[in-house]
Amino acid sequence: MKKVLVIHTGGTIAMHEDEKGGVQPKETNPLFATVESLTSIASIEVDDFLNIPSPHMTPELMFQLAERLKSRVGNESFDGVVITHGTDTLEETAYLLDLLLDWEVPVVVTGAMRSSNELGADGPHNFISAVKTAATDEAKGKGVLVVFNDEIHTAKNVTKTHTSNVATFQSPQYGPIGIVTKRGVTFHHAPSYKESYTVSSINHRVVLLKAYAGMDGSVVDAIADTGIDGLVIEAFGQGNLPPAVVPSIKRLHQANIPVVLVSRSVSGIVQETYAYEGGGRHLKDLGVIFTNGLNGQKARLKLLVALELTTDHKRLQEIFFK
Ligand code: ASP
Repeated sequence: MKKVLVIHTGGTIAMHEDEKGGVQPKETNPLFATVESLTSIASIEVDDFLNIPSPHMTPELMFQLAERLKSRVGNESFDGVVITHGTDTLEETAYLLDLLLDWEVPVVVTGAMRSSNELGADGPHNFISAVKTAATDEAKGKGVLVVFNDEIHTAKNVTKTHTSNVATFQSPQYGPIGIVTKRGVTFHHAPSYKESYTVSSINHRVVLLKAYAGMDGSVVDAIADTGIDGLVIEAFGQGNLPPAVVPSIKRLHQANIPVVLVSRSVSGIVQETYAYEGGGRHLKDLGVIFTNGLNGQKARLKLLVALELTTDHKRLQEIFFK
């Protein structure tokens, strides 16, 4: 019998809807009953780590979660781990864990769009699918996975695409790498590359900004004045910004504060195509660091991790090309 560690952190999967329709945390995790029905799939150990809505999640708590996982899996030899989490920041926790954990043991993150007592609640079903996946040998070595609505996604590519639909988690451009059915767990793709980093804390201040038509440098300057260690900008298309932002980017570069570029488009990667003022090629020449398809929130987490290792721009660029 496989042994699976379940770590609860909260989210809608652990909430209930009151008489007025407000959804809020419940003291006893409602998945308690589902855990009991899982005995034919795996032997389950539950760790009630947190019970918070995921907008209350922070990189520090995510880091503590990674440490908890390392110590429990290191000392107690589990075959797999399931983490339940609110969906709002689920992709961020999954991705940070993916960067921090360097092992083969499956780690599967799941949640729910409907609270435990709503008609059609998806929590128990997602939870069972996640446990099935975590207990599958084929899930080993694929990095942190997100299982939701019968699909298996990589932490790196998955994102929340819909505010309320149960099919909210999608991997734009790449798709899921597997499915969960009544027959079992089937993988049809495998990630080709896994990166991980050893850091002893996450202590830097990195801000994420989105570009918009007519944007000028004032917002970048105001943020820089608050004492940031790095800035991630969701630029237009292939990685272009309005020319009025350029002087502020130059100032950040002179102050040795890394500026990392992602695209506000949901698919594709940023590249040095356009040579006009503020175009990708111009920004690259100014020392802006280009990413390889990550979305803004994940690039921010990666910069937080990378800054624990180096502030050298060349090294940062190497890390972000992975
Ligand atoms: N707002 C909730 C949370 O992220 C949404 C959810 O869990 O689905 O905690």
